[in-house]
Amino acid sequence: MQQVDEKAGYIMTLPRKDLFDLPEGVIYLDGNSLGVLPRHAAARAQQVITQEWGVQLIRAWNSAGWMDLPRQVGNRIARLIGAPEGSVATGDTLSIKVYQALAAALKMRPGRRIILSDRGNFPSDLYMAQGLIGTLDKGYSLRTPPPESVVKAITEDVAVVMLTEVDYRSGRRHDMKAITDAAHAAGAVMIWDLAHSAGAVPLDVAGSNAEFAVGCSYKYLNGGPGAPAFIYARPDIVESVEPALAGWLGHDAPFAMEPGYRPAMSAERLRVGTPPILQLAVLDAALDVWEGVDMHEVRAASIALSERFIAEVERRCPELTLASPRDPGQRGSQVSFAFNESYAAMQALIERGVIGDFRAPDLMRFGFTPLYLDDADVVAAAEVMEEVIGGGLWRDPKYQVRARVT
Ligand SMILES: *Cc1c(COP(=O)(O)O)cnc(C)c1O
Repeated sequence: MQQVDEKAGYIMTLPRKDLFDLPEGVIYLDGNSLGVLPRHAAARAQQVITQEWGVQLIRAWNSAGWMDLPRQVGNRIARLIGAPEGSVATGDTLSIKVYQALAAALKMRPGRRIILSDRGNFPSDLYMAQGLIGTLDKGYSLRTPPPESVVKAITEDVAVVMLTEVDYRSGRRHDMKAITDAAHAAGAVMIWDLAHSAGAVPLDVAGSNAEFAVGCSYKYLNGGPGAPAFIYARPDIVESVEPALAGWLGHDAPFAMEPGYRPAMSAERLRVGTPPILQLAVLDAALDVWEGVDMHEVRAASIALSERFIAEVERRCPELTLASPRDPGQRGSQVSFAFNESYAAMQALIERGVIGDFRAPDLMRFGFTPLYLDDADVVAAAEVMEEVIGGGLWRDPKYQVRARVT
C-alpha cells in the first residue's frame, strides 16, 4: 500500500518484498554482502541465454542491444549514486576498478608519492594499492592511519586519498564531502569506494566533487554473485584520465581495430574488455526494483530497522557488545556486534534461518535492506539471537567448523 509521508515529501513504497524471491523461513540480514534475487532476474537470464545467445548468437551484440548494455546499466547506477548520465562505466570487478582509479589518480599527481587510505579499509583495496606500488616501482608508499585520523594525515605529499565510505566491519561512515574538500585543499585526488554505500544510503557523488568513485553491484544492488563493478570519473577531468588497463572496449572506436590505443572521450575509457552480458542483464533486471524508490525513504527505513534491531538485541543479549557507531547518522546500513564466539554463534543463527555473516576477528555482522525487510523480521531475528546466545546453543561443536567463506 502506498502512503504519502508529508513531512519527508515522498511516496512511501517500502518494503517491496513481492519483487524478490525470498526463500521461505529465512530472515536475510546479509544483503550487504550478497543481495537477494529479484524475482524477474531469473527470467531475464533465461531469456538472454536461450533467446539472445541461443538464437541470435553473435548478431545479438547489435540486435539484442548487448553492446549498449554496459552504458545503460552505468546510467541506472549513476542515478542511484548522484552522478550525471554518462559518467559511470561498468564491468570487471571492484578490485580492478580500484586499481584503475588509483593508477589514473597517481598519474594526475606525478610529483607526489603517497597513497593515503585508512587501516579499516577493505583488504582488497589496500592489496591493490600495494600491488600497484610494486609494479610502478617508483618509491610510492601506502599510508593507513586509523579512520578517525585520516583528515589530519592529508599532507601536501599525498597524491591520492582512497577511502571506503562505509566501513565493511563496523558500518562507520566517513564524511564524503568534508574529506574530499580536505583532500582537494591539500592538492590530492579523491577516490571513494562505495561498495557498502550504493543502494544503502543517499549519495551525491557529483556534489562531493571527488574525481573518482567505484563500487560493486552484488551487495545492496542485488546484481548476483560476481556482478560487474562500476567506476565514476568526474566529467570535467575524464578526458585527461590515462587508463592503466588500456583494453579495446575503452578505445574510442573498438571496431576500427587500430594498432594504437586511443581512449574514448568519456567514462567509457575505463572499460577494459568484453562485458559480461549474462551478469549485466541480471543486474539490469535487478535495478528495476529501485524504480520509483526515493533513497531518502530507504535511508529512513534503514535507520528505523537498525535502531529497532540494536534495541532488541541489547535487551535480549547482554553478552554482545555493539561494534557499530551508536549514532545512526554515523552508520551505513549495517550493524555489527562483537562476541568472543561470533563465528559459532553466527553458524547457529544461520541454521535457524537468520542469515548474517562473520568478520574476523570477532564480529557478527547484519545488513539492513529496507526493500525486502520489515520491522517484524528484525524483531524475529532478535528473538532467535536470544535463543542462540542466551541458551548457549552456539556451544555445539559442529558450529566451530570453519567454512571457506565466513
Ligand atoms: C566487497 C568489497 C570489495 C570486493 O571487491 P571484488 O573485487 O568485488 O571482490 C572491495 N572493496 C570493498 C570496500 C568492498 O566492500
